[in-house]
Amino acid sequence: MAETLIAVDTSKPPTDQPVPVHNRWHPDIPAVVSVRPGAVFRVECLDWTGGQIGNNDSANDVRDVDLNQVHYMSGPIDVQGAEPGDLLVVDILDIGPLPEWNWGFSGIFARENGGGFLTDYYPEARKAIFDFEGIYARSRHIPGVRFVGLVHPGLIGTAPSQELLDRWNRRERALIDKDPGRVPPLANPPTPESAVLGEVRPGAAWDRIAKEGARTVPGRENGGNCDIKNLSRGSRIYLPVYVKGAKLSVGDLHFSQGDGEINFCGAIEMAGWLDLHVDLIKDGIAKYKVVNPIFVPGPVEPRYSRYLAFQGISVAEDDTQLYLDAHYAYRRACLNAIEYFKQFGYSGDQVYLLLGTAPVEGRISGIVDIPNAVCTLYVPTEIFEFDVTPTAGGPVVVERGQAAMPS
Ligand code: ZN
Repeated sequence: MAETLIAVDTSKPPTDQPVPVHNRWHPDIPAVVSVRPGAVFRVECLDWTGGQIGNNDSANDVRDVDLNQVHYMSGPIDVQGAEPGDLLVVDILDIGPLPEWNWGFSGIFARENGGGFLTDYYPEARKAIFDFEGIYARSRHIPGVRFVGLVHPGLIGTAPSQELLDRWNRRERALIDKDPGRVPPLANPPTPESAVLGEVRPGAAWDRIAKEGARTVPGRENGGNCDIKNLSRGSRIYLPVYVKGAKLSVGDLHFSQGDGEINFCGAIEMAGWLDLHVDLIKDGIAKYKVVNPIFVPGPVEPRYSRYLAFQGISVAEDDTQLYLDAHYAYRRACLNAIEYFKQFGYSGDQVYLLLGTAPVEGRISGIVDIPNAVCTLYVPTEIFEFDVTPTAGGPVVVERGQAAMPS
């Protein structure tokens, strides 16, 4: 077994871990371990909220979650010899839930505290707990489905340089300033509130890093929270290096996720471990003109072969014509899928949670046929324990319970 370089203790709060964790991007957060190129090692990760969500039937914890804490990351990991301009090669050799975590959670954030892709329709907090049965997941809150986990880290990336960090903060601030009072906000600016900065001690340095440190919510040039479900076992990621030692961090492990992670809270979230191998391509950024990370998906994925695919077009619900807007087209595809599966007895909340967690494929099918972008959402029909294809007899309606609500 690979040596565990970073262990976590899920019985303790994030601020009291055997190896300090962090929840902001900043070049001056010190590395907690150092490895040589060619090293193979194990890293454990807290769930992205640091244990705020419980295995129970109330969504109070999702409603009241402190989002200034997210995401808890393990690292930074110093890779010896890495310099700005290199590419860090990271192989995910294996990945899984911690032994004591044979369950995971997914939720819908309240509009006032996080929101999500379809918050206009589903503004209330909801939760679904999933139990892991080996490679399978099923949920008492969404009965009638079972699917194979495509386990992956939602978040993996290198530390930004100070120059890159300053650019992030400038451009995201400019976006926020377009509509500063928006709920949910257009972006999350740095905030010292609930910042956890690894081995940085309280004092002037802590204050500066907490004030500047980028939030981990979006994916950026360093990778970060890209939420790519296919970054699973056997994947190889090429991450741009911006600081000496690369300072690799990883977290937000998912047992399974649908393309788009539309419910935001998000995939099937869990605490887990990864076995990693790292290497370097010197000067790789210039050699391959890399701007954002590139990756090779792994060879181990669930073999689903039958799908029901839902189309969506870039026309708003009030029939306003939009121009090649893929965001809107995907939204319409998701809403169409939700309405369809509701006819079998599910609530909209349950289907929304299912589309965020099951291995659904999201595609941009057409992006040139003016004025309508066409996005498609492929739902594997084999994840259902009953027939969901259209038939002359119509859908079989059965009582299918409900998602956990605030109590
Ligand atoms: Zn996540």
